[in-house]
Amino acid sequence: IKIISDIEFLIFLKKKRTIIGVTGTNGKSTTTKFIESSLSDEKTNALACGNIGKPITRKNLKNINGELIVEASSFQLDRIDKLQFKIAVLLNISEDHLDWHCDMNSYVRAKLKIFKNQDKECFSVICIDDKHCKKISTTFKKNFKGCLITISLCDSSADITLSIKRDFVEIKNKKIQKVFRLKKNKFNFTQGKHNYQNLLATYAVNFLVNGNDDFVSKVNNLKNLEHRIEFVKRIENISFFNDSKSTNFKSAITALDSLDNNLWLLGGRKKEGNFVELSKYSKKIIHAFVFGESKKELELELKKHPIKINVCDNIEEAFETAFQHGMNLKQHINILFSPACSSFDQFKNFSDRGKHF
Ligand code: ADP
Repeated sequence: IKIISDIEFLIFLKKKRTIIGVTGTNGKSTTTKFIESSLSDEKTNALACGNIGKPITRKNLKNINGELIVEASSFQLDRIDKLQFKIAVLLNISEDHLDWHCDMNSYVRAKLKIFKNQDKECFSVICIDDKHCKKISTTFKKNFKGCLITISLCDSSADITLSIKRDFVEIKNKKIQKVFRLKKNKFNFTQGKHNYQNLLATYAVNFLVNGNDDFVSKVNNLKNLEHRIEFVKRIENISFFNDSKSTNFKSAITALDSLDNNLWLLGGRKKEGNFVELSKYSKKIIHAFVFGESKKELELELKKHPIKINVCDNIEEAFETAFQHGMNLKQHINILFSPACSSFDQFKNFSDRGKHF
């Protein structure tokens, strides 16, 4: 019996819709929502679906007159058959879900299936800022048929680049020889390289769907999602950030990259991989508080770096200890809840854990 994943059911839609796929290890949901907001207006409603909200089989797609933006996980992509993405976006690849995919090669192979049924009329957008995606883009022409658009925050050879300045970001689109600026004070999302990558991918899709339509006016519709480096509130000298969606090391590194002076709360069920990049960020951590099933393993991992650590039994103890610690400090600090682990040792899912925090 052939096994397909739920997103494959989109091939049975009676009315043909432009189907846009978004994948990557991190940033899928945020980018999918960014694209949905940027392609929707008073007349058109685009819809985010797939690995976000209710499954496709439970969504009412009848009243949607715009594009369908499908967040596609590696599990879903592994089991597509004929589904074709008119535009397929690959954001980034780092180690994740190796308990299911067995090794990195099969994880990358699953991600690549986003391009599987594309033809000459289709577009493939790849951010070339990590080694896996860079390699895919260089071997792309041999293996895939879509028209490749490379995007980057650091590689000027890409077709569309974004550079970060003090008060604005600059997007350069070589395909149409155009440069434009977006003011940072118009952004309603947490500013950090990760969200600029998501913004750049959103621009690339807008460019492909609407030509050179006015992207600048859409930027303030792009909002941060819950539990993704989400600013919660400030109490005296302490700002609280909820990054419960950080379920792997790479996403926790992303949060550390965005924020300084952190009391970092991490723990849960550890996944494969380790903190190879942590040495670059240890200066941003005032103190770490580890909790949950993998607290001992995490302690050993963090001890390789000059980081002060408290080992706590559970999330409540980690929170209380960090809060007391923070109140005794004179400077402004962040309590950053970015667990770097899955939530399944103590919670139903990341959202349940985020609400609890
Ligand atoms: P996904 O749906 O792929 O899990 P999310 O948008 O839900 O991605 O974000 C998950 C985590 O990854 C959050 O902790 C967020 O801060 C971080 N993140 C978001 N976008 C990126 C990105 N482009 N690169 C790296 N990390 C990211």
